Amino acid sequence: MKPIDLRSDTVTRPTAAMRLAMAEAEVGDDVFGEDPTVNRLEGMAAELLAKEAALFVASGTQGNLIALLAHCGRGDEYIAGSMAHCYRWEGGGAAVFGGIQPQPVEFEPDGTLAVARVEAAIKPVDDHYARTRLICLENTQAGKPLPAAYLPEIRSLALRCGLRLHMDGARLFNAAVSQNLPAATIADHVDSINVCLSKGLGAPVGSVLCGSRDFIREARHWRKMAGGGMRQAGMLAGAGIYALQHHIERLSEDHANATLLAEGLTAIEGLEVTSAQTNMVFVTLTAADPAALEFHLKQSGVLVRGGRTMRLVTHLDIDRADIEQAVAAFCAFFSGRDH
Ligand SMILES: *Cc1c(COP(=O)(O)O)cnc(C)c1O
Repeated sequence: MKPIDLRSDTVTRPTAAMRLAMAEAEVGDDVFGEDPTVNRLEGMAAELLAKEAALFVASGTQGNLIALLAHCGRGDEYIAGSMAHCYRWEGGGAAVFGGIQPQPVEFEPDGTLAVARVEAAIKPVDDHYARTRLICLENTQAGKPLPAAYLPEIRSLALRCGLRLHMDGARLFNAAVSQNLPAATIADHVDSINVCLSKGLGAPVGSVLCGSRDFIREARHWRKMAGGGMRQAGMLAGAGIYALQHHIERLSEDHANATLLAEGLTAIEGLEVTSAQTNMVFVTLTAADPAALEFHLKQSGVLVRGGRTMRLVTHLDIDRADIEQAVAAFCAFFSGRDH
């Protein structure tokens, strides 16, 4: 039986229709700019986000790294959330490959970087300091879409201080769909944005980095250096095109399933739902042993990533019946047992 895998939205497998789109994709050598499917995906992504240009990259990590390398030079600095993916979960790549220093700032509870905190973190122009060049936002941040009113505020700080603004939009379309906003309206406030095709959108591989024509020209150069020139990548871009055409609007189903999951879990004594937005639900165990729960769930065909606070993620391969079954498995663990 297929497990109900709530560990991440990265676990989705390409659908039969997506596999067909991949198999039928026209290809060429993308390093020569001759892969028509990659070119089409890049054109579609740029148009969806209303940016001048886009670049197909291997992963979200590669997209963020390339963006940092294109925006910042050696000895420059970027400001990012202390729990931001591009600071905490990308191996320090910007420091390793670019000599770029991070300046972490605490995320606010709503996933923003407070304008005043960012402003206080910007280094004065002085030989003692690294040169602050860039602010990095994350959207969604732990499932939370950044409030629409926040973006012009941080944008105006960036303009006033001569900084660039990058958005790690790994789950940008989850934000756009949940806020009922065009993705371009969100992307309009930032200089560059990276969007994952391989998460909720269900493609097996890839991200698109979007920005101005000059920025993308620079990014393309860095992508080649980072080993990201992928030749007949149209096989993969075909999946990305299919995802953009067919898997954006349906993200609302994942959000509804996450709400259903949160409602089911809220009713269980011994579990506290600490956050539930877009396709993510965070639950904290008040007393039970996390390892025992994880084991019990696994026996019941439900995969989670353990710990006292668990992040449960809904996606393309999870339907309503799966949610009901998962809630039942949680209930069985907590009911009639002495935890
Ligand atoms: C997953 C993720 C990334 C990186 O994407 P990969 O394709 O796994 O490298 C970047 N930022 C955020 C917020 C993510 O969730």
